[in-house]
Amino acid sequence: MDERTTLVIATRNPGKTREIGELLAGYPVTIKNLDDFGPIPEIEEDGETFDENAYKKASFASRVLGLPALADDSGLCVNALDGQPGVHSARFAGNQATDAEKCQKLLEMMESSGDRSAAFVCVISIAVPTGAALTYEGRCEGEILLEPAGDNGFGYDPVFYYPPLGKSFARLPASEKNRVSHRGRALAEVREEFDKVLKWINLQMPVAEKFAGRSENEPITP
Ligand code: IMP
Repeated sequence: MDERTTLVIATRNPGKTREIGELLAGYPVTIKNLDDFGPIPEIEEDGETFDENAYKKASFASRVLGLPALADDSGLCVNALDGQPGVHSARFAGNQATDAEKCQKLLEMMESSGDRSAAFVCVISIAVPTGAALTYEGRCEGEILLEPAGDNGFGYDPVFYYPPLGKSFARLPASEKNRVSHRGRALAEVREEFDKVLKWINLQMPVAEKFAGRSENEPITP
C-alpha cells in the first residue's frame, strides 16, 4: 500500500507553501495550506520563543484539521539589543510599519553600538493532532549594516550583511539566499530527515484519528 501523507503548511502565504512543496518534491506527500480549507480561527503568536510560536501554529492547525501540520517562526536576533527584535520581528515598529520603517528603527536603536553581530533564526515545528511534535532549527550569523543595502528579499534583508558572501541579504538572488538562510537551513534539516519524519507521522496518525473523531460540539480553542 503506497499511500500519500497529507501535510498542511500552517500559513496562507503561497510563496512559503511553494518553497516547501518544491523542497519535499519526490516524497509521497501532498502539500496543502490553510487556504485549502474553510475558515479556521487565527492563532495569536504570543509565545516568548520561536519554538513556542512555531509549535502553537503547527499544533493548532493540526488539531483543528485532524491532519499533520508544519509551521515555522522566524526573526532577527541582535546581540547588542539582547536578542531583540527576536519573536517580535514582524511587529517591532508597530502593526502597520513597513519593512523600511522596521529597518530604520533597528538602525536607530543601534546607532551607538560597536557590536553589530546578529543572527536570523528559524524554527520549524511538525505536529500531529495528539500534540506530539518534531522541532528543527536553522540559524544564519551575520552583521547589521550602518545603512540599508539592496532591494531583494523582504523584512530586515537590506540591513543584514552576510560575511561569507560579502553582501547584504537584499543583494543576493533568492536562490542564493535560500541556500544559506536560517529558513533554508531549517528546511534542509527537515528534508534530510524526511523519510524518518514520514514514518513518525504515520505511526502517530492512527492514534491521532481518535482525537479527530471528537464530538462536533466540543470547542477547539487556541
Ligand atoms: P514570520 O516567521 O514569517 O512571522 O516572520 C517574522 C518576521 O521576521 C518577518 O516579518 C520579518 O520581519 C523577519 N524575518 C524573518 N525571516 C526573514 C528573512 O529571511 N529576511 C528578513 N526578515 C526576516
